[in-house]
Amino acid sequence: MKGKHQHNQPKLNNNLQPPIYFFCKDCEKIVETKPVGRKFVYKCNVCGTKNVAFGTLESLKNFYRYQGEEAEKQPSSN
Ligand SMILES: [Zn+2]
Repeated sequence: MKGKHQHNQPKLNNNLQPPIYFFCKDCEKIVETKPVGRKFVYKCNVCGTKNVAFGTLESLKNFYRYQGEEAEKQPSSN
């Protein structure tokens, strides 16, 4: 008996929810928010509207065509 240990794979966290991001449609970017009331309403910390959608980063990108960092890399040429 060599007592070889089976190296256990690290178990996934029970919390399988993907990270949720908040996208302000007014700011047109990912923002931090504050929950409003007891409903799933969130207020943008930047502009203060409740025009905020939330979801995974991928879904927000697909839905709002948010380019994120890629867009920010490009210099704004006016
Ligand atoms: Zn905003």
